[in-house]
Amino acid sequence: MTALPPGAVIGILGGGQLGRMLANAASQLGFDVHVFCPESDAPAARVAMKHWQADYSVSEALTGFARACDVVTLEFENIPVGAVEAIVATGTPLHPGAKSLALSQDRADEKAFLQSIGIATADFRIIDAEADIAPALGALGGKGVLKTRRDGYDGKGQAWLKNEADITVGWETVGRAPCVLEAAIAFQCEISVVVARSSTGETASWAPPRNVHEDGILARSTVPSGLDQTVESEARRQAVMLVDALGHVGVLTLEFFVMADGRLIANEFAPRVHNSGHWTPEACQTGQFEQHIRAIAGWKLGDTHRLFDAEMINLIGKAGLIDPSSLAANETLTLYGKREARAGRKMGHITRRGGPRKD
Ligand code: ATP
Ligand code: MG
Repeated sequence: MTALPPGAVIGILGGGQLGRMLANAASQLGFDVHVFCPESDAPAARVAMKHWQADYSVSEALTGFARACDVVTLEFENIPVGAVEAIVATGTPLHPGAKSLALSQDRADEKAFLQSIGIATADFRIIDAEADIAPALGALGGKGVLKTRRDGYDGKGQAWLKNEADITVGWETVGRAPCVLEAAIAFQCEISVVVARSSTGETASWAPPRNVHEDGILARSTVPSGLDQTVESEARRQAVMLVDALGHVGVLTLEFFVMADGRLIANEFAPRVHNSGHWTPEACQTGQFEQHIRAIAGWKLGDTHRLFDAEMINLIGKAGLIDPSSLAANETLTLYGKREARAGRKMGHITRRGGPRKD
């Protein structure tokens, strides 16, 4: 693919905050942005040049949108296969492609693929019926987490099973949907690697942040992670191996559990920019949103060198109603423009910049 010139049109599927920050980065690089999403008044649509408002099942609308764009990308991976096919049929490039999307949409296929390329995951069993759970739980050491194979995010569609007595309630919690049961991992901490691969096969990753979740939702990401350099390098090597194996184009994020001895166990990957990379624009030469646009536009990737220590704090629910005058001088506020601060809803984030990087 030849590099897209300024003024070309980038299409984004999805109207949330990730789409909004991608649109802003694209616009900074001189591109026009069209957003396709069913909702009116969506965060991304409000900063885009054009909003195509239709459901992802309306293939005529998708076709019109794709024909108006020079490249199409997405801000969430649970895009229906039919929508992907409608876009691909127009000949407009879609990045990331079908392989990255299909694998990340199904937790069982995702883990099997990771294992097949030599990336360790939690031991797991496929659950199609309630009767499958008890033997699987026994095989996994009596404790585990039941997760729907499809459509989970922010800890939704999950139930912890501490023993056999939890099975019936857990199965109801996940809506009796096809699941995986994962072994409980007693990790020391969690990190993620945000990595980019361009349409020319160039790759670049960022230093992995240490991530802390509260109630199944990411609360904070911190760099440096405090882990040994060998652990960080190995995590980054595995993430690059993954994007190469997928032929992925764009940014991708691989989440890891880190064991006390430094061993890495991959949790899941998202074929897109990620909440745990929200500190990169303020702390690195090139941030994840700009990098994703560079990658899908066929540009050379930017330098991912980390310049500052940083901490990203999510503003969830009412915490998003922040008084801007309460910010310290080293804090950058990003708000997503959501009209209502519902419980558990990501409203914005703060990046607190520390001193210059020392390592
Ligand atoms: P998100 O959208 O925030 O990435 P998700 O809904 O896709 O979340 P996971 O990433 O699978 O869910 O799980 C959310 C969090 O729950 C993990 O980051 C981790 O803290 C905890 N968790 C998930 N699976 C396990 C496990 N097998 N053992 C221990 N903790 C786990
Ligand atoms: Mg996760």
